[in-house]
Amino acid sequence: MSETTEKIHPKVQDFLNKAPRKLFIGGQFIESSSGKTFKSVNPATGDDLCEVYEADERDIDRAVEAAEKAFHGPWSKMSASERSRLIWKLADLIEENLEPMAQLETLDNGKPIRETKNADVPLVIDHFRYYAGWVNKFSGEVVNNSMHPNIFTYTRREPIGVCGQIIPWNFPLLMAAWKLGAALATGNVVVLKSAQDTPLSALYLAELIQEAGFPDGVVNIISGSGRIVGTAMTKHPKIRKIAFTGSTEVGKTIMRDASYDLKRVTLELGGKSPNIVFPDADFSKAIPGALHSIFFNQGQVCSAGSRLFVHKKIYDNFLSDMANEASKLKVGPGLEEETQVGPLVSAKQFETVRGYLEKGKEEGAKPLTGGVPKEGPGYFIPPTIFADANEHMTIVREEIFGPVVAAMPFDDDEQIADVVRRANDSEYGLGAGVWTTDVRKAHKVAHALESGTVWVNCYNLFDAAMPFGGFKQSGFGREMGKYALEMYTEVKSVWVNLH
Ligand code: NAD
Repeated sequence: MSETTEKIHPKVQDFLNKAPRKLFIGGQFIESSSGKTFKSVNPATGDDLCEVYEADERDIDRAVEAAEKAFHGPWSKMSASERSRLIWKLADLIEENLEPMAQLETLDNGKPIRETKNADVPLVIDHFRYYAGWVNKFSGEVVNNSMHPNIFTYTRREPIGVCGQIIPWNFPLLMAAWKLGAALATGNVVVLKSAQDTPLSALYLAELIQEAGFPDGVVNIISGSGRIVGTAMTKHPKIRKIAFTGSTEVGKTIMRDASYDLKRVTLELGGKSPNIVFPDADFSKAIPGALHSIFFNQGQVCSAGSRLFVHKKIYDNFLSDMANEASKLKVGPGLEEETQVGPLVSAKQFETVRGYLEKGKEEGAKPLTGGVPKEGPGYFIPPTIFADANEHMTIVREEIFGPVVAAMPFDDDEQIADVVRRANDSEYGLGAGVWTTDVRKAHKVAHALESGTVWVNCYNLFDAAMPFGGFKQSGFGREMGKYALEMYTEVKSVWVNLH
C-alpha cells in the first residue's frame, strides 16, 4: 500500500519542500519562539510527511498582539463591502487550489481523495461564500420600546474582538472554515490553532489568506499542542472568546479554564448518535445511508451514526445486506481514486479503535464484517458492524471515532416511545437518523430525539446555511447559518434622547 510520488501535485510538493512550515502571525510566516518543530505523519504509510514549527505561549502572545492591532486598526475601519469581498476572494483562491488542497488534506489526514475533492474542499468554498454574503446583512434592529415615546432605541451587533479557535483533526480544513467564516463576517480577528496531527491544510490556507489581502493580523494560524498552546489561548486575558471543536473531555477543561476571565465559549463536542431504521424504510436508501452514516471519513465524524437501531422484523435481513455491502467497500490509501475507506488519522487513534474492537468482542458483540485491524504499514481498520450489541456494552456507550457500528434490534412499531427512549439514553446529543416512509412517524421521532440535528431518510448532510451543534454533553452554541453570527457578536443597546 504505497502512495506513488508521481501523483503528488507540484504545489503540494512545493509546500512540503518548504519544511519546516512556519507559523502565520501578523501576516508573516515566522519561526516559533522556541525554534522547536514537530513532524506530521502520513497515516497511509506511517512515514513522516512534513516538519512544522511548534508554537508555545510566547507565540500566542505575539499572535494576540497582532490580532488586537488589526482589530483596532485596519480591520474595523474597513467597509462591510470590502470585508465581504476579501472573504469571497479567499473562496475563489481556494477554488483555484482545490486539487492541491484536497491532496494535502488526504496526505495529512488519510481521508479518501474522492471525499476531499468532492466534499471537504467544495464545502469550504461554499462556506466562505455564504458568510461573505452575510457581512452587510447581519445587524441590530430598531426597537419600539414600550415606555419612552421620546427615546429612540436600537441595538447594534458588535464583534467580540480577538477570538481563539481550536479545531480537531477529523476535517482539518473544513473545521477551520466553519470557525473562520462567521468570525470574519462579523468583524472579529482570530488566532486559530490546528490539531497537531493535521497542521498542513490550515497553513496552506494561511498562504491564501495572505494572497487574498486580509490586513496583517486579522487571521493568525498556529501549530502546536493542546496542552501548551491550547491552554495558553484559553487562559489568555486578551482573547475574549474561545470556539472549540473536539472531545467532550477537553471541552470541559476549556470551559473551566475560560471561566477565570469569563470568556465567551462555544463548544462542538463528541457524539454517540443513534440511527433508527423502521420496518417501512426504503432499503435501497436506508442501507447505503446507514453505511455512509458510520463509514464516511472512517467513522471519525462527531455525528457518526454509531448506534444503529433496526426494527426486529427486518433486523437480520437488513444487517446481512449491510454487512455484505460494507465488506465490498474499498479500503486503501486515500490518494487512490477508488479508495472508499482510508486509514485512521494516527497510530494513537488506530490503537484506540483496536481497543474498542477487542472490548466489543469480549463483551459479547458479534462482528458481522471487519473486526480485525489490517497489518501495517498505515493505520487501516476495515468497516466493522457489531450485531447483538446492547446498552450495557462499552461500544454502545462510548464514542469510538472509528469505522465501527453497534447494531441493536427494537420491537415497537406504532408506539415509538421505547426506541426513542433508548436513542436518547446517552450523555451526548449531536446527530440522529430516522429511516421511514411514514411522514407522520418521521416528524414525531425527529421532534422527540434529544439531538442538535436529525436527518430523515438521509445522514451526514451539512450546509453552510444549516446550524449544527449539540444538545447535552455534545456542547452548546451553533456553527453555521445565521445562528453562528450570533455567537460572534455582542448586542449593544443604544438609547437616544430626542427631547
Ligand atoms: P481533542 O479534544 O483531543 O482535541 C481537539 C483540539 O483541542 C486539538 O487542537 C487539541 O490540540 C486541542 N486541545 C487538547 N487539549 C487541550 C487543552 N487542555 N486546552 C485547549 N486545547 C486543547 O479532540 P480530537 O481528538 O482532536 O478530535 C476528536 C473529537 O472531536 C471527537 O470527540 C469528536 O466527536 C469531536 N468533534 C466534534 C465535532 C462537532 O462539531 N461537534 C466535530 C469534529 C470533531
